[in-house]
Amino acid sequence: MSDHHDLLRQLPAPRCAYLYDTRILRARATTLRAALPTNTTFLYAVKANGHPHVVRTLAGACDGLEVASGGELSLAVQAGARRIVFGGPAKTDTELAAAIAAGALINVESAHELRRLAALGHRGDICLRINRAGPALSGSHTMTGVPTPFGIDETQLPDILENLPDGLQVIGFHLHAVSNNLDGHAHAAFLTEAIGWSLKTAHRYGLSIRIVNAGGGLGVDYQSDQSIDLTPLASVQVPDNLELILEPGRWLTADAGWYATEVLDLKTTHGRTFAVLRGGTHHFRLPAAWGYSHPFTVLPVDDWPHPYPRLSVTDTEVDAVGELCTPRDVLTRGHHVTRLRTGDLLLFARAGAYGWDISHHDFLRHDPPTFLTI
Ligand SMILES: *Cc1c(COP(=O)(O)O)cnc(C)c1O
Repeated sequence: MSDHHDLLRQLPAPRCAYLYDTRILRARATTLRAALPTNTTFLYAVKANGHPHVVRTLAGACDGLEVASGGELSLAVQAGARRIVFGGPAKTDTELAAAIAAGALINVESAHELRRLAALGHRGDICLRINRAGPALSGSHTMTGVPTPFGIDETQLPDILENLPDGLQVIGFHLHAVSNNLDGHAHAAFLTEAIGWSLKTAHRYGLSIRIVNAGGGLGVDYQSDQSIDLTPLASVQVPDNLELILEPGRWLTADAGWYATEVLDLKTTHGRTFAVLRGGTHHFRLPAAWGYSHPFTVLPVDDWPHPYPRLSVTDTEVDAVGELCTPRDVLTRGHHVTRLRTGDLLLFARAGAYGWDISHHDFLRHDPPTFLTI
């Protein structure tokens, strides 16, 4: 990763950047493809990272893209995605019309949306997103078997199918259930169960389905360098007349992104030492949103062109805090450093998914980071 470090050191001070490595994106896609069972395809879920370079790279390396807004849809079209699936509970008529025009497969989330789609003149294939009766999996965001705005309650399915607008064919089910699952065996069991449920349900209602979309949720562990073990997925049996679709976001992009930012000040108050950064949770909100400490490494910058002394701490625990005027602007608490100086960079790995994209950029109106892509 020395080319990463060189690029970051070359930035003008105060240094603050996101760095995305498209080689790693491609490698992740290759690894995932090799780990999947036969009759399985995967679409990159654009919401994890909508940087146009990332989207373009993964449009080429995956079977297609999963989008959840008109903005993501147009990114996907521009990126030349071979296949687009459009989901989300709040699609506007404009977005639905654009999805139809782009030839996207739409995951319909309610009876009302079905009628709107028909009124817009859509004819042809659709998938239904279902909030099933039972819980699916443990993970960060449970989305099925509990009350949520996502999908159609399983018990309402008979009514929906009875009143299906003319010309719409249900060709599959969308069963996205969880985010950041770290248990590969549990995920394989979920896929098997999702296929079984879909076939049983299709049979019960006389539907001939071709697709089971099991959504995203392949996890990475931010506290360690571990990720979900993909090995168990290979043994999932996908019948020949069926396509199993996965929509990973986090797993494909987390490890391809770094957030790097300069230490502007070092101070100790009431016995705690703070590394105050040119950046913070308005650039990288994930640790604050999820309430964990994101590990970092120190990238030393030896240059010190100033007439005043350089601050330095050694062998101590620091809290990495940002430039916002709120005590919640914390990326990491109690992280041990052997040496840290003002002007050094903190390098946060695994920042490629749900980093910049989920952050509240305009709070306090600081300059955005630089975006570097290789
Ligand atoms: C967010 C989302 C994904 C991606 O989830 P990850 O946890 O990033 O893999 C896939 N499908 C749908 C419908 C989503 O909402």
